Amino acid sequence: MKTYIVGNWKLNFNVGESSIYLHKLQKNLPNYRDIEVVVAPSLVALQPLSLQIDRHKMKLAAQNAFYRDYGAFTGEVSFAQLKGLVDYVIIGHSERRHIFGEDDKMVGKKVAAALRNKLTPILCIGETESERAFGETADVIRDQLLSGLRDVSEEEIDEVLIAYEPVWAISTTGHAKLASPDEVAEIVKLIRGTLADLYGEKTAEKIGVLFGGSVKPSNAGAYLTVPGINGLLVGGASLILNEFTDIIDVAKRVKS
Ligand code: PEP
Repeated sequence: MKTYIVGNWKLNFNVGESSIYLHKLQKNLPNYRDIEVVVAPSLVALQPLSLQIDRHKMKLAAQNAFYRDYGAFTGEVSFAQLKGLVDYVIIGHSERRHIFGEDDKMVGKKVAAALRNKLTPILCIGETESERAFGETADVIRDQLLSGLRDVSEEEIDEVLIAYEPVWAISTTGHAKLASPDEVAEIVKLIRGTLADLYGEKTAEKIGVLFGGSVKPSNAGAYLTVPGINGLLVGGASLILNEFTDIIDVAKRVKS
């Protein structure tokens, strides 16, 4: 399986800044066959960047989309409209869930819509600090997985990536703590066990599981060597070109 390094730019960079960043990133990026480098710019940058990107070197992701393909949904953009511009869509990021009120049901519909439109969903799951403190982590993770994958068949599941992002470890929460590789390993085991229950052991092994939460060049290697981890979802550090390329270099070293 490939190793995925996904940069989530969130609400940062205008179109010009996004284009300059992409130019610099792909200029020095080798054409790695075993590392899938993906960036998720702002929606407004997707169309111009889709013309600029060298798809042999990297791919584009959207940060969100709406589950209906068209209709009276003012302000929304559909997966159908993103087809041809991006290969991946981040779904159910904790900021979507906790700031914009996306619930598990909506996240499940979005995953199904991505697959219907032949886009790879990156389904984000993760517990909050208080859920962890109350011992609810396993239930939260299982619930988010079950509802996120509710409409995903055995034939489709290997098109899905899961990103485990403990909310308390995301750098922009202000008081973020680093998740230890052991803490990540425990939850990845739970995720893989749940996937095996749902789809069978063999199929579950083919599903990519990423980790996200304050990933930096200095800790990327430790997270990438957690058993069952196939990549990283990077927020803050993906905005700094050197840090993002260093993380890609770490992935190349660790996984080859
Ligand atoms: C994220 O928000 O997906 C994320 C992982 O952010 P950061 O790397 O900044 O913690």
